[in-house]
Order: sequence, then C-alpha cells, then structure tokens
Amino acid sequence: MAAVPQPPCILTFEEARATVEHCAAKVNPHEIESVKLLAAAGRVLAQEVIADRDFPPFRRAMRDGYAVRAADLEEVPAKLKVIGEIRAGAPIEELPRELGLRQAAGIMTGAPAPNGADSVVMVEYTSSSGDIVTVNRGVVSGDNIVEAGSEAKKGQTLLQRGIRIDYAAVGMAASVGLESVAVYRRPEVAILSTGDEIVDVSAQPSAHQIRNSNSYSLAVQVEQAGGLPKILNIARDEHAHLRTLMEDGLRSDLLLLSGGVSMGKYDLVEQVLGEFGAEFFFTGAQIQPGRPVVFGRALDRYFFGLPGNPISTMVTFELFARCMIEALAGVMPQPLRFLHARLKGEIKTKTGLKRFLPGLLSGQCENTEVELAGWHGSGDVAAMARSNCYVVIPPDREKIAAGEWVAVMAR
Ligand code: AMP
Ligand code: MG
Repeated sequence: MAAVPQPPCILTFEEARATVEHCAAKVNPHEIESVKLLAAAGRVLAQEVIADRDFPPFRRAMRDGYAVRAADLEEVPAKLKVIGEIRAGAPIEELPRELGLRQAAGIMTGAPAPNGADSVVMVEYTSSSGDIVTVNRGVVSGDNIVEAGSEAKKGQTLLQRGIRIDYAAVGMAASVGLESVAVYRRPEVAILSTGDEIVDVSAQPSAHQIRNSNSYSLAVQVEQAGGLPKILNIARDEHAHLRTLMEDGLRSDLLLLSGGVSMGKYDLVEQVLGEFGAEFFFTGAQIQPGRPVVFGRALDRYFFGLPGNPISTMVTFELFARCMIEALAGVMPQPLRFLHARLKGEIKTKTGLKRFLPGLLSGQCENTEVELAGWHGSGDVAAMARSNCYVVIPPDREKIAAGEWVAVMAR
C-alpha cells in the first residue's frame, strides 16, 4: 500500500472495503492440521482434493429401464430381445458381453451399462412379456447414460485449497475416500469491548449500566467467519486500563475493539492505538450504521475499531472484519455476496451514506420480498434480532418505491 493515511480518513464504503480486501489478500493462513471428515465441516481446506479414479468410474445408467441401441429404436414401437438384467452393484465382469442388434438389457439406476448399449430407455416407455420388451419411444444416443470420466477424470483437482468446507465438499471428499482432510488452524481473534457503562452479562446492571452484548455477538460472528474468539475483560474508558488490555489483544492474530471510536471525550481507542505506533488505513466509512469504523495495524497485527452501538458493531463486522478473519483462516478472497429482492414498502432516507439496514426477507423463489425491520437506530438490538437480513440502500437514493429491486445481504 502507498503512503498510509493517518486519521482522520473517511472513505466511501467501496474504498474502505477495497482497503480491507487489499490487506486481506496479503495475509498468510496458519499452520495446517488434520481433522476427521465430519469435523471438517465449516473449516477451511488446506489441501487439494484429487480424483482417485474416474467419475463416474463406469458408464452409469441414470434411470431404471432398458439399455438399448438408439439405432434399433428409429421406428417405434419396437420389439427387442431382453438378454439379461443389470442391477446397481453388479460386477463389471458379469455384464452381458455385448448388446447385439435388436437386443436390450434390463438396467437399474446406478448400474453399469453394457458394451454396445448407447442409451437407456425409461421403464415407463416400455412393456415386457417374457424375454421380449416393447419400446414405445425412441431415444437419442447417449440418453440416460453418463460416460465414465465425464464428471471428472482420475487425477483432476476436485476441491481447491482455501475453500470453506460445506456439505457438498464433504460429500466430494468422501467420494474420493478421504477419512480425514488437512485444514488450516483457526486464527485467534481477541475481542475487546470498551465502555465505563458496560457490564458483563453475569452482573445485575444498575440503571445507568448496559450489559455487554457486543463481545458475545462478535464471538459468534468470529466463529462463523472461521476464527477462534478470545473475549477479553471489558476495558474502562481509562487510558492505562485500555492500554493494558489492548496490548494483550494485539498478541492474538487479530484484535476487534468495540466502542470508543466516536468523537466523544472518552472515546480513547484511536489515541491509545496511536501510542502503539498504529497505522490507520481508515477511521471512518460513509455508511450507516457504523460510520466511525476504524481499520489499521499495530504491533504487526491488524485491528478493527468497531463502533459500540450493537447494530453498528454487527454490520461493520460483516462488511469489513469478516473478510480479514477469513483471510487469516486461509479462505480464498471473496467479494461480499448480495441477493436481490423486491421492496415491500417505500423507503425514504437521506442521501450521502450507503445504508445497511436490518430487514425482513419473506416469500419464496421469484416472489421474494424485503422490508425494513423498523428500527430505533443503531442501538436497537431487538429490531436486529427479529430481522434476517440487511437491506442495502445506495448513497444517492432519497426514495425507493415499493416494488423496486434492492440489494440484500442475507444473514
Ligand atoms: P461508543 O461507541 O463507545 O460511543 O458506544 C455507543 C453505544 O453503544 C453506547 O450507547 C454504548 O452503551 C453501546 N455499547 C458500547 N459497547 C457496548 C457493548 N459491548 N455491548 C452493548 N452495548 C454497547
Ligand atoms: Mg463508549
């Protein structure tokens, strides 16, 4: 990166995101460990998965019916002589040697097709009597047969290093006979909530106190992103205390701070980070919620200063911090993913900021709709908890009419 801008540095959403992506692209994932296949779900693959044989390994029937030669069915109905029946699991050596002219073999889904047969006609289009089958519909050569090696050839790479292992990847790894796979060690992510008014969930808060929800929501987000959360004690808005905890947090692979990054007199986070020689890549983004979000590097570690309002904390994590945790966890860089849905009711807002507002997705398939969850600002955890997505409102729109397509970030 060129000369590092020092605060204040307020970027557009796109600039801020590009800055994080740029830094994320340069981090190296951690050591590799081997885990049993089922324990690998959700982890990041640290090896390539290679086809140990052709997929499918033999010419596979895709339907129950009769293996035939398409040329014999140019005129239908056609009567063919049935020379045998092939079930799934039938050893290749036991297949009929060769399907001759005007011959057919009964065949089941998943069974190997005999030589000479170039297609399978579905049982629904046939009737049989003794060893004669009457076929009522023609087929095109290749119908209902998957050629050996057509899905993948032996030696081909089936899964790339750096993918998040999902159920399809587990299925793929199982298909090539892997009982365990290599995954990256999860990065440790320190979570440091700040604020004199913040108390732990176990405490009974006095009237002026607020329970620490951010450390908990962040811990879940960290886990979902592939990191290991380490919740530190709540930092008071006091210089020395903040400094001690921050120093501890900067020993983890990444430090997430919540609160203390606004313009208030007791918002000390940037000041204390500065004392660690921090470089600040941005100290704000033109977004709502989450405008005061901070990203930088100190003591050889990246950090994010997330605004303390719970919705701001959650949104800025998703928009910025997740990407860095994924990179530290070894995930190949990925853009944010958005869906689109029709807006249920009109939205009016001010221009200037790109907004990511709690929303409710409903309906299905082509009738998917979205509406705002109706919130009372970025402290409204209740609105957030009953929402299931973020509605994205571009900075240049004052009004979006009902029925318009809007971008949505699913949760
Ligand atoms: P700050 O960013 O420190 O100015 O805090 C903004 C708002 O978020 C204040 O109303 C705080 O009480 C609230 N807040 C800050 N940290 C937390 C936290 N860890 N859990 C819940 N609310 C918080
Ligand atoms: Mg505060």
